[in-house]
Amino acid sequence: APTTGKPKAKRLDHHLSVESTVREPCVLKQAAKHLKNPGLISLGGGLPCAEYFPFESLSMRVPQPPSFSEAATRVDGIDVRIGKYDVTDAASADASEYDLSIALNYGQANGSAQLTRFVTEHTELICNPPYADWRSCLTVGSTAALEQALRMLCDRQRHDAVLTEEYSFSTALETAAPLGVKVFGVRMDKEGLLPADLDAVLAGWDERARGARKPHVLYTVPSGQNPTGATQGEQRRRAIYQVAQKHDLYIIEDEPYYFLQMEPYGEGKGEKKKKKKDEEEGVEGFLRGLIPSLLSMDVDGRVMRMDSFSKVVVPGSRLGWITASEQMVERFIRHAEVCNQGPSGFSQVILHKLLDETWGHEGYIRWLMYLRGEYTKRRDVILAACEAHLLREVVSWNAPAAGMFHWLKVDHSLHPDAATRSILEIEEDIFNLCIDKGVLVGRGSWFRAEKDTAPTEMFFRATFAAATPENMTEAIRRFGLAIRESYRMEG
Ligand code: PLP
Repeated sequence: APTTGKPKAKRLDHHLSVESTVREPCVLKQAAKHLKNPGLISLGGGLPCAEYFPFESLSMRVPQPPSFSEAATRVDGIDVRIGKYDVTDAASADASEYDLSIALNYGQANGSAQLTRFVTEHTELICNPPYADWRSCLTVGSTAALEQALRMLCDRQRHDAVLTEEYSFSTALETAAPLGVKVFGVRMDKEGLLPADLDAVLAGWDERARGARKPHVLYTVPSGQNPTGATQGEQRRRAIYQVAQKHDLYIIEDEPYYFLQMEPYGEGKGEKKKKKKDEEEGVEGFLRGLIPSLLSMDVDGRVMRMDSFSKVVVPGSRLGWITASEQMVERFIRHAEVCNQGPSGFSQVILHKLLDETWGHEGYIRWLMYLRGEYTKRRDVILAACEAHLLREVVSWNAPAAGMFHWLKVDHSLHPDAATRSILEIEEDIFNLCIDKGVLVGRGSWFRAEKDTAPTEMFFRATFAAATPENMTEAIRRFGLAIRESYRMEG
């Protein structure tokens, strides 16, 4: 067993909120354990009979590794079918460990055993947490997982607060606010959150001045951070973990972009070189090249890692998973039982068929390698467009190393109205000019962790995930025009 010889995670009762502590197991879900008894006739749970499920089978065509493109899939894709009784119908050509009769019925809130096994094996392969009693549990995506986690860890009455990057995922901020959980920002550089600032903020915490208890939770996005695109290197992650140990922080590691770690900008240019590189390094090399996760360093069991299929398979699956210590996962499931009851059966059975029964772990990792290559190309297009169309005196940036966001710093001090208008006003002016010229970008101020303070810098967020290469280039050209117009520059 993978866990042999490893120590157990620390007990973290003191991190739990009252709300989480008082949650009781759902009696009906508990009763389901008796269904395993041979010969037992259940009149217990209100599970409808699969006979009345109006779905006999599903069929789909999916890419055949390693030919993942749409064009290749049209010609050479694999046709797979999911039947209602593939598990029990021994005569079925589609014999499987999972089928529609199971997936479309009620199940446990932590998700099906079948897909949980796959993500657990995947997590072991990628993160291999250094303690014994870790577990993965399916979620309906990281948005909901974060809401559950915050309610598990933070108490309004206790004046709990969360630390995060000074620019942070706006939805995460919007999740915390109505829970009464204050969010405070930690300064960043191009590798994201600064451990020294994290330490300083905590060491100098003044409850009165801040209006909150010293934070015991850190929410961080280590790879391709949204919105800044910053990626923490291995040493950075180790330093952050050490500060978390020093101040007894619980870490929520939100990693939707983990596998979109790209090749360094300027290297491996050109399709041929890139293909060759993948062939040379293979699956093993790809895995070795990934920056280790915080979970992989987590000797204490103080990290909850959130994975999501949104950015690497499909957002509409509403499917992801968390990995944490057994204690924390158990509390998380108690909440899921009384809110979303776990992810949709359709999603689970479709992803299980694709990932486990069609591609397998290696095929899935090859898919992730393919995506990495695609995002590298897109990143290179947006950077080339920025080099061509933006004034370097005014606009500056770092090449993103992961994810789908490019973060553009616009020097407000060079704006002709810098003395008379606020950064927010200038930012709004540029944003409106962008809309007039036909390009939508994100305003940096949308992502500020501490919105009640005045910004000192101005940023815009552009994604290279969405548009075609031609449109992306045109969009950056328009962004450049909007800046010139706002700055009243010629040409
Ligand atoms: N976390 C971060 C940092 C994100 O950028 C996003 C999506 O933009 C999410 C979470 C949402 O993930 P999911 O679709 O799994 O809810």
